[in-house]
Amino acid sequence: MDISVIVPLFNEDESLPHLAEWITRVMTEHKFSYEVIMVDDGSKDKSWEVIENLSKENPAYKGVKFRRNYGKSAALNVGFTHAQGDVVITMDADLQDSPDEIPELYRMIKEDGYDLVSGWKKKRYDSKLAKNLPSKLFNATTRKMSGIKLHDFNCGLKAYRKDVVKSIEVYGEMHRYIPVIAKWAGFTKIGEKVVQHRKREFGVTKFGLDRFINGYLDLFSIMFISKFSKKPMHFFGLIGSVFFLLGLISVIVLGVQKLIALSNQVPMRLITDSPYFYLALLCIVLGTLLFVTGFLAELMGRNSPTRNTYLIEKELLGDDKEEK
Ligand code: UDP
Ligand code: MG
Repeated sequence: MDISVIVPLFNEDESLPHLAEWITRVMTEHKFSYEVIMVDDGSKDKSWEVIENLSKENPAYKGVKFRRNYGKSAALNVGFTHAQGDVVITMDADLQDSPDEIPELYRMIKEDGYDLVSGWKKKRYDSKLAKNLPSKLFNATTRKMSGIKLHDFNCGLKAYRKDVVKSIEVYGEMHRYIPVIAKWAGFTKIGEKVVQHRKREFGVTKFGLDRFINGYLDLFSIMFISKFSKKPMHFFGLIGSVFFLLGLISVIVLGVQKLIALSNQVPMRLITDSPYFYLALLCIVLGTLLFVTGFLAELMGRNSPTRNTYLIEKELLGDDKEEK
């Protein structure tokens, strides 16, 4: 199979039929063999009925419905596990991303050898300040911290080589950082394509300003997890050792000073009267705590399953599900 299109959606029943018609048109025109996996992220409207109908009319349309709203990342992750196409395309359901971009994205992965191609909404059609300014800041930080030269990390329209989606895991709010996660998983050929962005015609946006605050916290989690999740002791142990040594050295210095004073019979204040004593004590205690945290993190890392599980209410995935 050439292409899997993954569409995460939450209350998008008005857009879905238009989107499906458009995708089918593009796929047929270019003679791609394809599937469209619609992941209904716990919609309360008629989205699932629409998906059922689409699937009845065209077996290329498949669907998964979550029992409740888990978020876009969870929806993408489930799509990734089921995708069978050589190239996997993700796109938003709200018609803001154009299916006309699919053939070129496919070509970039297949012929130019990219692992991942991210869309770049160079000209955006969202309400101006509320989105554009924070989004510029967000992209600049992520670019700096990850070293990946993308303009628009959060673009819903992206294309992946199949290997990539089978090797990475997205959860929480981490869909914004998929290029970063992919890079750390060893997929470094990451490209960008300017894509057409359109106005939202139906429904409302599902994300508010809080996305940026949480987004930054997620960036820290990702940096931490990718660097240290398999070896938390390297993080906690290092800081712990620094604190502990600092404390230990200070205590020794204090003790030696006192001994010298005593042996010379010079009067000196009690060690516990010195503020350094308390600082040293604090350092030793902190160091020990960090060390213990490191050990606990190691133990937890050893015992936790790597995969997140989601409650799935219904599935429409067809018979060829096992084929890889
Ligand atoms: N979405 C989702 N689960 C959520 C929120 C959003 O699957 O909890 C989907 C939504 O239906 C849409 C895509 O993610 O297909 C992007 O959302 P939206 O268009 O609201 O974001 P914006 O374009 O405003 O950034
Ligand atoms: Mg949108």
